[in-house]
Amino acid sequence: MKDYLVKAITKDNNFRVYCVDATALVQEAHLKHDTWVNSTAVLGRTLIGTLLISTALLKNDDQLTVRLIGDGPVGGVVADGNSKGTVKGYINNPHVSLDSNAQGKIDVAAALGTKGSLTVTKDQGLKEPFTGQVGLVSGEIAEDFTYYMAKSEQTPSAIGLSVFVQPEESVEAAGGFLVQTLPDADEDAITNLEAKLKDMPLVSKSLREGKTPEQIIFDLFDEDNVKVLETMDVEFKCDCTKDRFKDALASIDKKDLQEIIDADQGAEAVCKFCGKKYQFTTDELKELV
Ligand SMILES: [Zn+2]
Repeated sequence: MKDYLVKAITKDNNFRVYCVDATALVQEAHLKHDTWVNSTAVLGRTLIGTLLISTALLKNDDQLTVRLIGDGPVGGVVADGNSKGTVKGYINNPHVSLDSNAQGKIDVAAALGTKGSLTVTKDQGLKEPFTGQVGLVSGEIAEDFTYYMAKSEQTPSAIGLSVFVQPEESVEAAGGFLVQTLPDADEDAITNLEAKLKDMPLVSKSLREGKTPEQIIFDLFDEDNVKVLETMDVEFKCDCTKDRFKDALASIDKKDLQEIIDADQGAEAVCKFCGKKYQFTTDELKELV
């Protein structure tokens, strides 16, 4: 089934809610980066979180970059998102595979680490991009995004992110939700939601049971109270081009570039986000000097 994200609002004007099935895009990220189980979960949760906050915070051609750095074996992870539902990302160490945690789940916090930071840089077409940074709360990623939304965006929200990986490493289900409390939300409604969130199954579990993002939203809020605003296809998509790498090569030290030319082996540039390789011949490199 195709991945998609649902944006909805409750008719009582208390909450805005986003829910996404990102199974295919997390599987694609796993294949592109040859990730092992813990790295798959860290990269997957980061991609889903990036999709959700991008959709919640951005408009038109705005873009944002999420950088998570931790003291665990994964090292760090980077993801780019926009308001149109495409995302791309990479992880410093794709080959992390650890024992499950005490709950029998993939130990995301052990892989990312619990000391570190989450940084979001938003490019909204202004002179200076906006950068917000928070320390890691738990390294489980959803809590870290939630804390970022509250602290840097002053947007109280609840975020859930989950990736279910099969024993042979492929992604069976991946998804998430973001519930944003609207200004003047009713106190009782907030208390009620908090209780429901405590008992809410992981989004990946609901997806494995065959539920759609809409049905997952209806598990949280009465269907009669939900107004779906939009459904949007989401995908892992890289926008790299050979020209962009040409610019990057042209900006390296002229002496280093000359050394590559003298070696007459050409050069290969690899896109970190999607693994695509671009070849440059010695003649093409000479044009850059
Ligand atoms: Zn690329």
